[in-house]
Amino acid sequence: MLQHLYTGVLIFIAALAVFTFYGTMKQVNPYGRYARPTDRNTMTARPAWLLFESPQWWSFAVTFWLTAQSPGTPAIVLFALWQSHYLYRGIIYPLRRNEDGKRFPMSGVIFGVLFNGLNGFVNGYAVSHAPHLMTDAWFRDPRFGLGLAIAVAGWLINFQADSILIGLRSDGAPGYRIPRGGAFEYVSAANYFGEIVLWCGWAVMSWTAAGALFAIFTISNLLPRALSHHRWYRENFADYPSTRRALIPWIL
Ligand code: NDP
Repeated sequence: MLQHLYTGVLIFIAALAVFTFYGTMKQVNPYGRYARPTDRNTMTARPAWLLFESPQWWSFAVTFWLTAQSPGTPAIVLFALWQSHYLYRGIIYPLRRNEDGKRFPMSGVIFGVLFNGLNGFVNGYAVSHAPHLMTDAWFRDPRFGLGLAIAVAGWLINFQADSILIGLRSDGAPGYRIPRGGAFEYVSAANYFGEIVLWCGWAVMSWTAAGALFAIFTISNLLPRALSHHRWYRENFADYPSTRRALIPWIL
C-alpha cells in the first residue's frame, strides 16, 4: 500500500517538475524582487518561509520513524543530514533573512507546503526502505563518499551565498546591490548554484529515485529564476560584471 503511494507520489513530483519548469520559464514566481504590489493574496514573508519549509523536516521525520522496520546506520546518517539541513533552511535561514515589510504570495505558500510535504514523504520513505542503506557496506561504496563530498561543497557554497546576500542589507538600507565574493564572482545566482550542487550530492549519496527527483525538481525550479535574476542584474546595474554567468560558472 505505502509502496504504491510512494510510486504514485514520485510520478506526481516528476509531473510537477515539468509543470514548474515551463511555468517559471513563462512567468517567474512573484516574490522578492518580482513581487507584485497589487497582489492581495499574500502573507508576511517570514512566517510564510517558516510555514512552507517546515513539511520538509516533519514529513520526512514522521515517514521515516513510522514506516522504517529497522533502519540501518547509513539510513540514520542520511536522516540526520537531512534534518540538519532543514534545521538551517526551515528555521534558522527564515529568521536570518531581511524581511522587513516583505510579503509572500499565498499561492506560493500552498504550493510550497504541498510540494515539501510530498518531497519529505518520498525521501523519508526511500531512505528508510532502500536495501543498500540497511548495512554499513554503503559507507564503503564510492557513491556515498562522492555524494557526501558534493553535498557538503554545495551546502557551503549555498550557505556562503545566503550570508553574502543577507550582509548586503546589514546597514539597514533596503534595495538591491551587486553581490560580491564567493561563488558570486562567477554566477549571479550563487545561492541557487550551491542548492543544486547540494541536492545532486544528496541524489548520489542516497542513490534513490526520490533523491534524484528532488535534484531534478530543484533544477527545474531554480534554473528559470536564476536566468531571471541574471537578466534583472544586467538591466539594473550598468557596471554589472560582464564575465559573470547566470547559474553555472563559465557555462550558463
Ligand atoms: P533570492 O536570491 O531571490 O533572495 C534571497 C534573499 O537575499 C532575499 O532576502 C532577497 O531579498 C535578498 N537579496 C537577493 N539579492 C539581493 C541583492 N542583490 N541585494 C540585496 N539583497 C538581495 O533567493 P530566494 O529567496 O529565492 O531563495 C532563498 C534560499 O532558499 C536560497 O538559498 C535558495 O537556494 C533556497 N531555495 C531552494 C529551493 C529549492 O527548490 N530547493 C527553492 C527556493 C529557494 P528580497 O526578498 O527583497 O528579494
